[in-house]
Amino acid sequence: MISIELKSVEYHVALADETHRPHITGNRKAKGPPMSDKTRLVCPHCNTINQFATARLSDQPKCAQCKNALMQGEPVAVNSQSLDRHIQQSGVPVLVDFWAPWCGPCKSFAPVYSNFARKAEPNLRLLKIDTEAHQVAAGKYGIRSIPTLMLFKAGKEIARVSGAMNEMQLQQWVEQQLTGL
Ligand SMILES: [Zn+2]
Repeated sequence: MISIELKSVEYHVALADETHRPHITGNRKAKGPPMSDKTRLVCPHCNTINQFATARLSDQPKCAQCKNALMQGEPVAVNSQSLDRHIQQSGVPVLVDFWAPWCGPCKSFAPVYSNFARKAEPNLRLLKIDTEAHQVAAGKYGIRSIPTLMLFKAGKEIARVSGAMNEMQLQQWVEQQLTGL
């Protein structure tokens, strides 16, 4: 694995995300019927939060606001604000690639990540964020080297890993983190 230290980035924000948010219904194994069979996705085009039946997730759902597809078969490029919105409002786990244009390993990892998006959607939301253009996010999430991948579920970090991977390694890593949750 190859990664590059993020020495050139100044962090302006160093917030630990310790907010206690309510668990999204459906992630807990409760007795009796689930309270809701709804899920949520943030629109990659207009950032509207769409709520719909979980069963429709595999039915290429469209945004109620702008009518574009909520899943596009490719990673969504986000900024610091839309990153937080996806992490907090997605009913499916969220994978984030923190990268930068000057990072060689990041560039070689990009097509691997895009290919994986086609396979993993709609059960996983894939995001990518340019840490040079959006340094607030890199600081907030404590990114020390790139590429770094972070995996979130229900607004909380599950795992992170630094360094480029091939597609098989990426798939195995994600599956390992999500197993048993
Ligand atoms: Zn939309």
